[in-house]
Amino acid sequence: MSFANQFSENREQVSVSFEFFPPADLGNADRFWESIDNLALLNPEFISITYGAGGTTRDRSLKIVERILADTSLDPVAHLTCVGSTKAEADDMARQFHAAGITRLVALRGDPPGGQEKFTVHPDGYANATEFIRGLNKVADFDISVAAYPESHPESPGLDHEIKVLKQKIDAGAKRCITQFFFDTDAYIRFVDKARSSGIDVPIIPGILPILNFTRVQELAKKCGTHIPAWMIKMFDGIEPSSSVNSMLAAAVCIEQCEKLYDAGERTFHFYTLNKSDLTRAVCHSLGVDATEENKESS
Ligand SMILES: Cc1cc2nc3c(=O)[nH]c(=O)nc-3n(C[C@H](O)[C@H](O)[C@H](O)COP(=O)(O)OP(=O)(O)OC[C@H]3O[C@@H](n4cnc5c(N)ncnc54)[C@H](O)[C@@H]3O)c2cc1C
Repeated sequence: MSFANQFSENREQVSVSFEFFPPADLGNADRFWESIDNLALLNPEFISITYGAGGTTRDRSLKIVERILADTSLDPVAHLTCVGSTKAEADDMARQFHAAGITRLVALRGDPPGGQEKFTVHPDGYANATEFIRGLNKVADFDISVAAYPESHPESPGLDHEIKVLKQKIDAGAKRCITQFFFDTDAYIRFVDKARSSGIDVPIIPGILPILNFTRVQELAKKCGTHIPAWMIKMFDGIEPSSSVNSMLAAAVCIEQCEKLYDAGERTFHFYTLNKSDLTRAVCHSLGVDATEENKESS
């Protein structure tokens, strides 16, 4: 990594997008909107809003994307899951989002509801994301993104299967994929090579998780099958979660990862912000993405 390269004249432009989750209380969400406003200055490609497991945040997700559409110039993307719903219920929910003006979705199967170890298909439901996409195509003309797993989905028998499933989702109409977060950047690069040689030619956007709280990241990683390298465990050992020392280390790790991805040819980055803007903004700045004068003036 070289900061001289990062800030050189020859840098190619990169584009970024940001994921947020709906805050628990929309009546008390000033800090959430403040984070959105801070990152909106960077002219993101889109802002995506997650959908709580089993649809638990449906109303809040819908209200947030509606407000983003009404009050900002941002392009909101709504995540939708089909787990635990009948096909008719899942279609109906998609119809509600479409009626509110939301045409861009991340279509997901979703995780098993809390307490359940294994995913079981609802007797009248969609069995997986591919089936869900086919259903969504019948509801309206959505622009659909899907999830991809550079280190395999936890239920998957392996990467070959993972690529096969991803290809099915693209063939069903998905226009791009966003990956699960990862720290093994070489594994991501191998995954992209494999996807390309298997005929997947839509954009693959790396999902980047800045480490706000390493203990929490370890829990998340265990759940979704992301490998945490030994050096990272040593690096954050004894560091107070959410402290400023943690933030400094996290910025260094994330900037190095993004730079490695840039060197590998990546020009689009999707950040899991966890509703916080500072760390993500620092990393974007290092990638050459910062507030435009125009945005600063209009804010
Ligand atoms: C970018 C991103 C955003 C996310 N956003 C949310 C969110 O907002 N809310 C939320 O609850 N969760 C979210 N998740 C988590 C996601 O819901 C889980 O990872 C879920 O377990 C899988 O969803 P999927 O859409 O990838 O499922 P699928 O693509 O359907 O895959 C699920 C599993 O089934 C297998 N499979 C799929 N199709 C077939 C087939 N035809 N034959 C055999 N096996 C098959 C796959 O290999 C995989 O193991 C997100 C994940 C990512 C990467």
